Amino acid sequence: MSRRRIIAGNWKMNKTPSEAVELVATLKDLVKNDDVDVVYCVPAIDIVPVAEAVKGTNVHVGAENFYIEDKGAFTGEISAPMLKDAGVEYIIIGHSERRDIFGENDILINAKVKKAFASGLKPILCCGESLALRKAGTYVEWIKRQIKWDLTDVAADQVKDLVIAYEPIWAIGTGETATADQAEEVCGIIRKTIADLYDDATAEAVRIQYGGSMNAGNAAELLAKPNIDGGLIGGASLKPDFGQIVNA
Ligand code: PEP
Repeated sequence: MSRRRIIAGNWKMNKTPSEAVELVATLKDLVKNDDVDVVYCVPAIDIVPVAEAVKGTNVHVGAENFYIEDKGAFTGEISAPMLKDAGVEYIIIGHSERRDIFGENDILINAKVKKAFASGLKPILCCGESLALRKAGTYVEWIKRQIKWDLTDVAADQVKDLVIAYEPIWAIGTGETATADQAEEVCGIIRKTIADLYDDATAEAVRIQYGGSMNAGNAAELLAKPNIDGGLIGGASLKPDFGQIVNA
């Protein structure tokens, strides 16, 4: 089965609204590729201007975070209906920065995955191990457990539309990339885990990205691997290099 490639930028807490519109204009011609889903996951305040700026292009808009209730007394939060109304299609869930800095656990992450699907948003579910777990050799068990917890009570027909990003924490923003073989090993294990939890057809349909210092120089080798269907890109998504990754 051939899965459609998906290259998503995670802008994190970068770019004011006017800078965001400038970046969209800079990247516009560089990211043209009808064979790839291109997504900009942007800070909440940039969503409306970016959605406007990408109109008529091949770029989809994603968000970096949301809360599981539709509305109410949740000061500072943003809801799935708000994101949908603003034109958001994808939502990053379970990024290691949200797990580590903001204390999000697998119970909340699982609730977010379920809420995203119920609201018509496509989750980009992140998983990945710390350097300590990699060195201890227990990373495979860790990743399997994360996937199992985060997908509790999520149906197979929803998982077919899921994107999973394998992001080893030791490779995020460090300039240290997993080798293509290391990334492929874990992406293959993630696919096998989905097959065990659901079935082979679901595992074949789910798209799995690698994330962690992916750049214009290493993208082609990573993306050539059979179980790597795309990338989640932090630092390099803010530069013209992003166009080279889309077209790698
Ligand atoms: C990320 O934060 O999802 C990421 C992969 O960052 P970077 O590409 O900068 O390592």
